[in-house]
Amino acid sequence: MREQPLSSHSSASTVAEPLAPVRVIFLGGLGEIGRNCACIEVEGRLIVLDVGIMFPEPDMPGVDLVLPDFTFLRENAHRVDGVVLTHGHEDHVGGLSYLLRDLEVPVYGSPLTVGLAAHRVREAGQSKRATFIEVADGETVEIGPCKVEFIPVTHSVPSAMAIAFHTPQGVVLHSGDFKIDLNPVDGRRTDLARIGELAKTKGIRLLLSDSTNAEEPGFTQSESSVGETLRRLFAMRSGHRIIVACFASHLHRIQQVIDAAHLSGRKIATLGRSMKNNVELARRLGILEIPKGMLMDITEIENLDPGEVCVLSTGSQGEPMAAMSLMASGQSKWLDLTQGDVVILSAHPIPGNEWSVARVIDGLYRRGAEVVHSAHEPVHVSGHARRGELSTLLSITRPDCFVPVHGEFRHLLHHAALAVDMGVDPAKVIQATDGDVIALDADGISKETTVPAAYLYVDGAASDIDHGILRDRQTLSSEGMVMVVASVDLHEREVVAGPEVLTRGWAGTSEQLLSVEAASAVADALKSALRDGNHDVEGLNRVARRALGRFVGTKTRQKPMIVPVIVAI
Ligand SMILES: [Zn+2]
Ligand SMILES: [Zn+2]
Repeated sequence: MREQPLSSHSSASTVAEPLAPVRVIFLGGLGEIGRNCACIEVEGRLIVLDVGIMFPEPDMPGVDLVLPDFTFLRENAHRVDGVVLTHGHEDHVGGLSYLLRDLEVPVYGSPLTVGLAAHRVREAGQSKRATFIEVADGETVEIGPCKVEFIPVTHSVPSAMAIAFHTPQGVVLHSGDFKIDLNPVDGRRTDLARIGELAKTKGIRLLLSDSTNAEEPGFTQSESSVGETLRRLFAMRSGHRIIVACFASHLHRIQQVIDAAHLSGRKIATLGRSMKNNVELARRLGILEIPKGMLMDITEIENLDPGEVCVLSTGSQGEPMAAMSLMASGQSKWLDLTQGDVVILSAHPIPGNEWSVARVIDGLYRRGAEVVHSAHEPVHVSGHARRGELSTLLSITRPDCFVPVHGEFRHLLHHAALAVDMGVDPAKVIQATDGDVIALDADGISKETTVPAAYLYVDGAASDIDHGILRDRQTLSSEGMVMVVASVDLHEREVVAGPEVLTRGWAGTSEQLLSVEAASAVADALKSALRDGNHDVEGLNRVARRALGRFVGTKTRQKPMIVPVIVAI
């Protein structure tokens, strides 16, 4: 007898209830570089994946950092079983101390990742609310109903991980930030063998992959190639003091600077708090090897000949208060740049920082230093996979479904197209954005709904600022302010003092005359409102704002901030 053919889907539904979908909730990092944060929902429980910050853009005056929108996590705090961290960069761990105000859950990551994250959490005074759990390369931990596997990848900070969530809907693999460096400084390669094994045995149901370099053809150079350049530069600059600036978390770069310095008979000193802290942490964890007696305090380098000195400095992004900026403006307490000094900028500016970096470079030249940066020498390579590597990952994983992550809109777009080129069914490729909730079920993948995903602005110690405040700051910085002050007698229905118009940063030389005319326009409007029986201060403020706004708009075609202050006596 011939058996009725059954698809795996219908056979599953006849013997058991259809499985609940697995959801991925994107809270940040899809549509911008930074504030990476997502959430995986398995059987009604939630695991948070990274909690990053974004550095402010030029149109965010006074903003120190931008966080993901935590509304969804706050409202679902009782369902969250843990936070997993892919690696220790600020755009993945920098927001943790803010999330811990709302959630008290264990945080998992490699020892270095957890070390870097814990340091930030301690600084924010939140360490009592955090339990950090270190996981080893290749380790699987159970978090709620989900097995979570940490798979080594190479990136521009050591001990980075891809993360495989073993769910009832199959394996959801998140690449983390990665590149496929075949010759990494520490010999720890991206574990393609394990990823391939997962793909072969279980299949990769959904791949979420780093899109940062999805527009760049070819393969990203190995980090080791920077070491060769550094050794050559150091050899050619013997007798000169060398200062190298890079990210304080880029410990493999730091190792290569140390190696080049050692080879050329130099001592090492650190400059900048995060450089000092990270070098100490990495040394303790056995990630950095510094020959005995080589590390000196920055105060001791004065006693050495210039050719015996190499300083590792923060500030490669032109941050105004970092060591490199202070050196460039001659304000460094520790290091006075002089003719003959060599400064190597071993980093690329993050988009948005180009202007500050250019200014620092100019300042360094003005002080007589020679500046070496990536425009003249290959002193930097990216930590992110280019198209060749992205295709390699796609071909090894052969995912059923694909969502590009970690990138601006255009990076995500190009990565999605690449996945289709590599054979992923276009119906199973979703270009998601912040706030999207993606559901993975037996039929495939779909956008289900959205959750709040606004930018959350943080202004130093002053706490959160909302969109209104930011809009005000933008208006003040670009158009200035016009203010009108007047006192009114509500009983007598007359204006008793003013109106006087005061301005800041508006209309330049014609300001004086315009102020007088503006005051008379407001006076007319107030008088007529009072005559019509308007007895309410709030209403009179509105009248004044409208009259002043109209006058300013027609006279100058500008839109400064209008501030009416009407006082009743
Ligand atoms: Zn990142
Ligand atoms: Zn990263």
